Amino acid sequence: MRGKRTGYYLRYIKNRIRNILWQGKRTVKEQKRVVRRYPTTIQLPITYKCNFDCIMCGMHHMVTRKDLTAKELFDILCDPLFQKVEYIGVNGGEPFIKPDIVECFEAMLQACPNLKTFGVISNGFFTQKILDVLSQVKPLCEKKGVTLNLALSVDGVGKIQDMHRGREGAFEHVNETVDKILQEQKKYVDGLSVICTLTRHNIFYVNEVEAWGNEKKIDISYNIATVNVRIENEDREADFSVFSDEQARMLAQEFFYSKYIQTGEEKYFGLFLYLRDRKRYAPCPCQYNEWVTLTPDSQIGYCATHSRNLGSALETSAYEIFNGNLDYLEELKKDYCKSCSHYLYELSAEGLKQLAEDQRKNIFVRG
Ligand code: SF4
Ligand code: SF4
Repeated sequence: MRGKRTGYYLRYIKNRIRNILWQGKRTVKEQKRVVRRYPTTIQLPITYKCNFDCIMCGMHHMVTRKDLTAKELFDILCDPLFQKVEYIGVNGGEPFIKPDIVECFEAMLQACPNLKTFGVISNGFFTQKILDVLSQVKPLCEKKGVTLNLALSVDGVGKIQDMHRGREGAFEHVNETVDKILQEQKKYVDGLSVICTLTRHNIFYVNEVEAWGNEKKIDISYNIATVNVRIENEDREADFSVFSDEQARMLAQEFFYSKYIQTGEEKYFGLFLYLRDRKRYAPCPCQYNEWVTLTPDSQIGYCATHSRNLGSALETSAYEIFNGNLDYLEELKKDYCKSCSHYLYELSAEGLKQLAEDQRKNIFVRG
């Protein structure tokens, strides 16, 4: 089996390299990828409040921290740093718990002239509140020509979701939210999908999520739970990580390989390689300042997972903070990026070269 797989990887790598060379422009672009001064995406965890206590999250350490008001958010987003923003990822905490969430959407729509898309992530528990908020926000987005997409977190069916998310009734509620939105989707969102985060606990039941999603004809994207400094989950790593259970790691590795074969999505190949080698072969948009993170208490960061807080955008210009800490960005890249599993999309030419080299040395094949 290993021989057959190795042959496949080599063919894959060869084809990818050939494609990159063939698309000469893309190669040049990839090599010339430079650090930007104006990001096009904001990762916006909009609140520290959450009604869940998921096994892979440390948000409960932070629930007492203050969140930005809608007015403060508006003032921050009027900074020149955000003038080219096209996409805002709104998450948390649980965004729909925030009392002024509609006003926050209004603030974002007003402050960001080039905004094209919202990608909201929710645990889907507060069905009625979610429907109420979305039915108000959707027409506001339509007026501005902004797309509103919602992704709900479903890590398991029935009790697995409840256990994983640390809340009785978690599955029942998110299931109801999905059904209600699907019944009148146009009223609430442009796109609805599901995100499933895999740990050493739910990987054994992932096919149930697949079957549930297929039945509802809803797209599911899969991630693995790893350490994330922003949500202070380091003390839980041993309990949730697939790397602390060899059977779970192997199952996850096989799962992502099969997802790659099934969908052709390179991010799954990247995740498969990450699970196999604990190494990333893909670049990250945050390494080039294509994305910026704004925390619920006004701190600017280079990424939403490992970056330290760079400064408060309420006190100093976000542009100055973002562009005045580039030495730290280099440090971040040197210290963390190689072993980070987040935002793995397309393997880069450099990543493919590294993979081919590793493959040749055969240093990664597990015994
Ligand atoms: S993962 Fe999301 S839903 Fe779960 S506790 Fe953390 S913020 Fe809340
Ligand atoms: S630590 Fe991870 S998320 Fe942060 S810039 Fe590096 S690769 Fe991207």
